[in-house]
Amino acid sequence: MVALGNAPTNVLIVGVGGQGVIMVSKVLAQMCQNHGFEVKQSEVHGMAKRGGGVFSHVRFGPKVWSPTIPEGEADILLALEWAEGLRWINYMKPESGTFIADTQQIVPPFACRARGRGAEANYAPQTPVEIMGKVKAGYAIDATTMAEGLGNLRAANTVLLGALSTALDFAPEDWLDVIRGFVPPKTVDINMQAFKEGRAWALEGDKRIDEPAAKPAPVLQPQVTTRLEITGEWCKGCDICIKMCPERCLRLNAQLVAELAEPDLCTGCRMCEWLCPDFAIKITNTPVTEAIA
Ligand code: SF4
Ligand code: SF4
Repeated sequence: MVALGNAPTNVLIVGVGGQGVIMVSKVLAQMCQNHGFEVKQSEVHGMAKRGGGVFSHVRFGPKVWSPTIPEGEADILLALEWAEGLRWINYMKPESGTFIADTQQIVPPFACRARGRGAEANYAPQTPVEIMGKVKAGYAIDATTMAEGLGNLRAANTVLLGALSTALDFAPEDWLDVIRGFVPPKTVDINMQAFKEGRAWALEGDKRIDEPAAKPAPVLQPQVTTRLEITGEWCKGCDICIKMCPERCLRLNAQLVAELAEPDLCTGCRMCEWLCPDFAIKITNTPVTEAIA
């Protein structure tokens, strides 16, 4: 647990656009304000379209002069995406920093080395086991799968807030009150549950690692089958996916909802999934051998 003293407490929140970095930092800032602390928050979200790096510095204490956290001074690094956590790891206090990260890997389509079905992709090779061996305290939690199990993968950031709550001395009920005010009314129940599950998971022990996600980064096999699913209710017809698909295989239908017009051309590159601001597209690439089995 990070001691809340006279010096500012520094929490650095990082992820990629569309994950909710700003929401998480606003919840934390509100919590701190509610407890009488002075709070300074600074953020970069110019790349807030899905995929760009987003970070937010939250500093709170009896008095805070500067809004930004110097390198090596973060008490807690909260990463909504694994590689983004690694990118910022030098910002943690080396002797006492706490690293909390979703083990979810969002592999940018631009990391593909070749254009084609199942092209190999580059991704940070460090596993949760390696990183947990290096940091003083932390959690590598598969928050996305946990949220998916609750029926809404967007609640992954609330799962992480649950884990974060174990590192700060605020009552869980206070967190829940604040979160309730930040999430859409129809998702309140799921988010309350997500917070509780994330908190319970982290309370089971420091340096905990979600085993299923501790696997090395998946590298696509040469032969895969691709399933592309579009959740019509979430699509607002912005046509970003259609314009950005390298193979030109998507189109808007008469109801202005994206649909896959040319399935045979789709390479499963995930560009559309990555760029959709509304998480309306899900790509599943399955190695051919697995698909046959
Ligand atoms: S539909 Fe999506 S996954 Fe398929 S080629 Fe186009 S951008 Fe890539
Ligand atoms: S699927 Fe997403 S990116 Fe494509 S048109 Fe709909 S909202 Fe836009």
